[in-house]
Amino acid sequence: MKFEDLQLHPAILKALKDENYSEPTSIQAQAIPLVLERKDVLGSAQTGTGKTAAFAIPIIQHLINTTRHEKGRRQIKSLVVTPTRELAIQIGESFDAYGKYSNLQNTVIFGGVPQNPQVRQLQKGVDILVATPGRLLDLISQKHISLRDVKYFVLDEADRMLDMGFIHDINKLLKILPRQRQSLFFSATMPNKIVKLSQQILVNPKKVAVNPVSSTAETIQQQIYFTNKSDKKDLLLHILKNKDIEQVLLFSRTKHGADRIVRNLRNKKIESAAIHGEKSQNQRQKALLRFKKGEIRVLVATDIAARGIDIDKLRYVINYDIPNEPETYVHRIGRCGRAGEEGVALSLCEPEENAYVKSIEKLIKLKIDVAGNNPFPQTDKPMNDSEKKEFEAEKKRKRQEFFENRNKKRGNQNPGFRRKRR
Ligand code: AMP
Repeated sequence: MKFEDLQLHPAILKALKDENYSEPTSIQAQAIPLVLERKDVLGSAQTGTGKTAAFAIPIIQHLINTTRHEKGRRQIKSLVVTPTRELAIQIGESFDAYGKYSNLQNTVIFGGVPQNPQVRQLQKGVDILVATPGRLLDLISQKHISLRDVKYFVLDEADRMLDMGFIHDINKLLKILPRQRQSLFFSATMPNKIVKLSQQILVNPKKVAVNPVSSTAETIQQQIYFTNKSDKKDLLLHILKNKDIEQVLLFSRTKHGADRIVRNLRNKKIESAAIHGEKSQNQRQKALLRFKKGEIRVLVATDIAARGIDIDKLRYVINYDIPNEPETYVHRIGRCGRAGEEGVALSLCEPEENAYVKSIEKLIKLKIDVAGNNPFPQTDKPMNDSEKKEFEAEKKRKRQEFFENRNKKRGNQNPGFRRKRR
């Protein structure tokens, strides 16, 4: 199928040509005709499948047709709500790209930055608003935004939205949105609570689905290094000796872990930066931009911070640890090998994580290849239950010792802590 077969407006086809998109991805081929027929759509698709264009293109087409005769300040006719700032920015960029010959205004709003520049954008009049839930409700309550004219509503990454605790915000929003509207609902996974939420939003929806989360993209080559916890640092340096790995997105479970990895890499003169929840929005965007420009070789991210970041032509993902939720593994490695590009996902597994690999393999129905060239093979044994208990008790003891010493140094100024100890 070609985009030309979808009867899109010439302004859109021209923009798609500029993007070098030759044919629609599966989700686009399925969803675009339905949205153009004004059907509500329940889409099961994760980031990387081209789902943004699957809703953005037909919305632009609707708006080209309806805004032609509009007079006065532009009103918001399409609202896209998405869980993270990074996703919001990317969706805004997609509307810019596909709508560049269409004379439509879009703007993006999200929290964590001053609201005034966003308010000024809104005051100029916008056709398409892309927003994260918190800032959206804030600006609605301050009367900077009216949803009265919204005809096309998109809820993007619904499952993450719920994971991140946005359910109350979504419920509030549903009370404000006009009833007469077309709604599109996208989620990577479809557990019961998501299906229920979709039923509150959609009317007689058509279902479209690609890449259920259990199927990892066929274009991603996966390898695993079984190693020891204490060897991961050196193993990573060994892997990065491979000059083919020009750039890599590396996942760390914790923020502290991410910072530690960056320090280690910088000590070895490997350019790297971390993006995680304790970095400001500005720092995160700067790190992402430097990575995209090629100034950084290793971008270290936690799962939350990496949600939705889209790096064109990213070939390598490294899992510095194995996530305990198998779906997280699929999300992580889906960052590379996007839209048909070839990707490589390497995972470092310490003994305590062996069991996680098993549940990942069960989910993806595939045995992950063991990497051949591993100078730091796993020699430690995973702990049995009593060893785990001992380990946890020792960790607790050490933590207590740390706090006791700290309190002594501070001259026992923390009575709350002393009370707890008794
Ligand atoms: P998304 O799933 O919307 O985050 O899109 C993933 C990536 O695929 C983005 O970098 C898009 O620019 C790209 N993309 C989307 N649609 C197409 C297409 N039809 N042909 C080639 N690349 C595409």
